[in-house]
Amino acid sequence: MGSDLYPVVALFGAPGAGKGTQSALLVERLKFKHFSVGDLLRAEVAKGSSIGDLASSYMNQGKFVPDYVVNDVVKAYFLENKEDKVILDGFPRTVGQAKELRTLLKLFPQIRFCAIQIDLSPSEIKERIKSRFMCAGCQTIYSKEDFKSQFVCSKCNSNEVTVRKDDAEEVVQTRIDEYQTNVSDLLDFYKSGGILSVVDGSGSAESVYKKISSVVDGALGFSLGRS
Ligand SMILES: [Zn+2]
Repeated sequence: MGSDLYPVVALFGAPGAGKGTQSALLVERLKFKHFSVGDLLRAEVAKGSSIGDLASSYMNQGKFVPDYVVNDVVKAYFLENKEDKVILDGFPRTVGQAKELRTLLKLFPQIRFCAIQIDLSPSEIKERIKSRFMCAGCQTIYSKEDFKSQFVCSKCNSNEVTVRKDDAEEVVQTRIDEYQTNVSDLLDFYKSGGILSVVDGSGSAESVYKKISSVVDGALGFSLGRS
């Protein structure tokens, strides 16, 4: 029993809370598929499908693609990938999208949905971002704590570093504020539905990963067999 259940995880967290790192770990270790609405929309645009044409008419004007278009793309995705572990990136973004997703996933009784919030205080986020820098050669993100002496990138051997534009100190608070404004209704929606798991984001990436994978295990009612 249970071997035909598939987790679909929506991960929430302010910039710097570790969402990217944790998504990458889920993909690498538990073979989750990374689902990005942006990538799917761009693929439809490239194909020149009718939905792609519709989406590009909004994207070209720098506007958000409306929910009904996004929802169609999401539905098509799940019809094709109903037997995969999926991590949702940047979706749902609104309560309207979350409700549509809930209705959609009812079509797939084998899917177990988990909403997980990585919780980290703004002061801890700022500390973490302050120590973050990027390899100028390949754009891999590192932490200053990992390099006591000379920096050498383990991926491309470059020793030149830079800071992500988004990580400049003066824009970090704005990004945190924007995140909180955008996501608070959505988190309330999942909280009131009793399906939001809050995971403490302080501590090592490894310890946060353990907590997230045990939430996923709990939702499935069995062990995924971690590596
Ligand atoms: Zn590099």
